[in-house]
Amino acid sequence: MHAWPASEVPALPGRGRDLRIHDTATGGLVTLTPGPVARIYVCGITPYDATHLGHAATYNAFDLVQRVWLDTKRQVHYVQNVTDVDDPLLERAERDGVDYTSLAEREIELFRTDMTALRMLPPREFVGAVEAIPRIVPLVERLLEGGSAYELEGDVYFSVDADPHFGEVSGYDAATMRQLSAERGGDPERPGKKNPLDPMLWMAARPGEPDWDGGPLGRGRPGWHIECVAIALDHLGMGFDVQGGGSDLAFPHHEMGASHAQCLTREHPFARSYVHAGMVGLDGEKMSKSRGNLVFVSRLREQGVDPGAIRLALLAHHYRGDWEYTTAVLDEAVARLARWRAAVARPEGPEADTLLRQVRDALADDLNAPAALAAVDGWAALQEREGGRDTGAPGLVSRTVDALLGVAL
Ligand code: ZN
Repeated sequence: MHAWPASEVPALPGRGRDLRIHDTATGGLVTLTPGPVARIYVCGITPYDATHLGHAATYNAFDLVQRVWLDTKRQVHYVQNVTDVDDPLLERAERDGVDYTSLAEREIELFRTDMTALRMLPPREFVGAVEAIPRIVPLVERLLEGGSAYELEGDVYFSVDADPHFGEVSGYDAATMRQLSAERGGDPERPGKKNPLDPMLWMAARPGEPDWDGGPLGRGRPGWHIECVAIALDHLGMGFDVQGGGSDLAFPHHEMGASHAQCLTREHPFARSYVHAGMVGLDGEKMSKSRGNLVFVSRLREQGVDPGAIRLALLAHHYRGDWEYTTAVLDEAVARLARWRAAVARPEGPEADTLLRQVRDALADDLNAPAALAAVDGWAALQEREGGRDTGAPGLVSRTVDALLGVAL
C-alpha cells in the first residue's frame, strides 16, 4: 500500500556523529555502524483506532534515528507494516457493526494524515499483512519442512525450542515470558502445544472470520510475528540495523520474529539491534485501547493544536522512559514553539554553529531529545535577551530544528 508524502529534510553543514543507542538484546548502549544504506524496520499499527500519542511517541523515536543517520550522509531504507487483519481489528469491527476492511482503510488513511502532519519520514515500503500473505505462506511451509513448526488441529505453530537463540532479544525468564504471552495475544493454555510459549504461524479458517488461500496450509490467516518477518526479509534481509517498536513489543513480538527468521535462514541475528520506546500514560495508567484512555493526534489537530507543538511535546521526553501526558505538557510545547518561531523570525542572531553541534551530540547520545530541546531553548533565550549579529544564524537554527527534530519553524 502507499505510504505518505515525505517532508523535505534540509541539508546541514558538516556531518553528524554515529548513533549510540540502547539495544534491548545486549541491555546496554551500542554504537550503530550501518553501511551506506542504513536499514530499519518499525512495527506498524493495527488499524482499528486512530493514532494516539503512544503511537506517535514511538514513531517519533524512530524518525529521530533516521534523521541522525541522514545527517551522517547515509541513505535510509525504512520499512513499516500494517497489521490489517488480526483479532483486535475484527473484534472492533464486530462491536461497531462495520466491515473490518472499511474500518482498516479509514484508520490507515487517518494514520497517514497524522504522520504527514507530524513530519514523520515515510517508510520506503509500507506493507499490509494481507498483501504479504503470498510471501508468508512459503515461509510457514519452510518452517514446517525444517522441523521448526508443527500442526495442531489445522493451525500451525512455531516451536520456540527450535531456535537456540530464543530468549536473547527480551532476556526475560520463563515465568515472565509465560505471563506476557497470555497478556499479549498468545495462547499458553492451549492443550497440545509443544511449549506453552509457541506462537501461531497460520490460523486455520474460523467461521465468520476472513480467510485466504494458504495453498498446502489450507485456508486461514497469518500470525502476527511471521507477518513482520516476511515483510522484513523481503525488503531488508537478515542482519538489518534496527528492529524498532514500543517496549511492549520486545516480547513476544520481536523475540518470536527473531526466532522465526533465524530458523528460516540459519543465520543470526535477525536484526543487529532491538530498540524499544517507552509507554505514554494518562492519569497514572498506560495509554491503551483496552483502557480507553487515549489522546488522539487527530483530535488535537482538530482542536487547532499545531502539529509542531504535538511533536515538541513528544520530544520533551526521552524516548526510552515511560511518561505521563498532561495538558501542561502540551501547553509547554505550544509556548516553546512560539518562542522558537519568534527567535528565528529575526533577521540576525547569536552564532548557531555551537547549537548545531549540541543538537547533533544530544541526539547521537541515545536520542537525547530533551537535551537537544534545552540547547535550542538556550539559543532562543540568548536571542531574546541579547540578540546577535550573525545573519545566517536564524536560518541555521531553523534548518537544524527541521532536519534533526522534524519541526518546521
Ligand atoms: Zn512487527
